[in-house]
Amino acid sequence: MLKEAIGLILYALLLLLLIFILITAVRALFFTPKKKKGEKIELTDEKVDTERYLRNLSDAIKIKTISNYDRDKVDWSQFDKFHAFLEERYPLIHKTMTKTVIGDASLVFKWEGTDPSLDGIALLGHQDVVPVAEGTENDWTHPAFEGFNDGEFIWGRGAMDMKNHLLAVMESVEQLIADGYVPKRTVYICLGHNEEVVAAPDNGAKQIAAYLKEQGVHLEAVIDEGGAILPVNVKGVLNTHLAGVGVAEKGSVNYEVSVSAKGGHSSQPPEHTALGHLANVIKDIEGHQFKAKMPKFVYELFIEIGRRCSYPVRLITCNLWLLKPLVLKIMTKIPPAASLIRTCTAVTMAQGSPQFNVLPQKASITVNFRTMPGVTIEDVEKHIRKSVRKKEKIDVNFLVGKEASVVSPTDSRAFRTIKELCEAADDKCLVAPFLVMGGTDSYNYECVCENIYRFSPFVASTKLLLCTHATDERLPVSSCENALKFFKRYVKQMTED
Ligand SMILES: [Zn+2]
Repeated sequence: MLKEAIGLILYALLLLLLIFILITAVRALFFTPKKKKGEKIELTDEKVDTERYLRNLSDAIKIKTISNYDRDKVDWSQFDKFHAFLEERYPLIHKTMTKTVIGDASLVFKWEGTDPSLDGIALLGHQDVVPVAEGTENDWTHPAFEGFNDGEFIWGRGAMDMKNHLLAVMESVEQLIADGYVPKRTVYICLGHNEEVVAAPDNGAKQIAAYLKEQGVHLEAVIDEGGAILPVNVKGVLNTHLAGVGVAEKGSVNYEVSVSAKGGHSSQPPEHTALGHLANVIKDIEGHQFKAKMPKFVYELFIEIGRRCSYPVRLITCNLWLLKPLVLKIMTKIPPAASLIRTCTAVTMAQGSPQFNVLPQKASITVNFRTMPGVTIEDVEKHIRKSVRKKEKIDVNFLVGKEASVVSPTDSRAFRTIKELCEAADDKCLVAPFLVMGGTDSYNYECVCENIYRFSPFVASTKLLLCTHATDERLPVSSCENALKFFKRYVKQMTED
């Protein structure tokens, strides 16, 4: 009897498995990119002057707008020069839009819409660049501040981060004015002057956002740097252009964790010095990572990628809902993937006694946490205290930090517009939300806007993206025309009604 029952159960299970496989096989067939309904945007007819843009970008790179944490060390004449350059190259913007200088050198241009009762949009950019690391000047193929255009690339500091994006915004708006376009909604161009200086006390973007708030401005959308269009080609699996639109950015929090001890001469040491105890603390902190969770937008990213994969691979990707726990497990083992799904912990600095024969009275480590949206600075402290074994008496001190951003929605008009424009420019393009690891100026605009997107419409390989802030920063010339069309059309789509 029992044997029969077991047999029956096994048979039923087998049948279920077969049905599941069959459903999956069929589901995977139809698990393809969703077809768009309604009218398709065409970008081909959008008039842009790419040659003028490239000339301007070359000249903009020549101006050394290098920011510094210490404002006394900034060569402000370079920013004056940059402002004069903008005035000369974009006369229609300067004639049509009102310009306000905010703080030391940040700029706000305002193009008043015909219906001021509607929320406007803002196009962000930062004028500053990072310096060239001392001693590496001669490693560059073409000098960092020459803006050399060899036909394939424009070389120089800021070519990718982000004079390319800033000038594309200026060029597109200048062209729109030349075309006689009249926006219904107000358009702001907001150009910070010290984005590259992390935690600058006089942050330009923060001052701009405060200024807008003071003016009673509420924005429908903000677009800033953050994501780009990445060619992805995994043979036989996926061949696409992945446009990552940053819908959020991680926070960065630093805590000092210390252990105190008696100290004394190292000739008569206890079993464990303060550093010995601290070793346990490090082990506990590294051993108790934050829990990995797949945020909705990361899940959406995988679904979008999954839909583009070749058929056999889709047998797996169409069942992501089922495989989520396994995917999370694998991702935690790969640092770049792990950073997408959890708050990351990095013990970065350590200190013991000041001399080799002195027992430390205090031993401390600094831990840098990159927080996920939703995890607060306070949560991090609680997590540290919970992770370390009770017998180690620790002191936890908050040093400096910035909360993670909120997450912008993926069903807003602005996100949809970005998606449609990317797809219109390139059939192969896959647009998906993603999480920005570093900080951007747009973070400061949460007080005036809920729809903040971090995206530069330039195609750039990982190799090129890695040159940002490094030697041989350069921009592929071939990606410029579509970027100009993107911004021009984006402004139109967003301000027509
Ligand atoms: Zn930047």
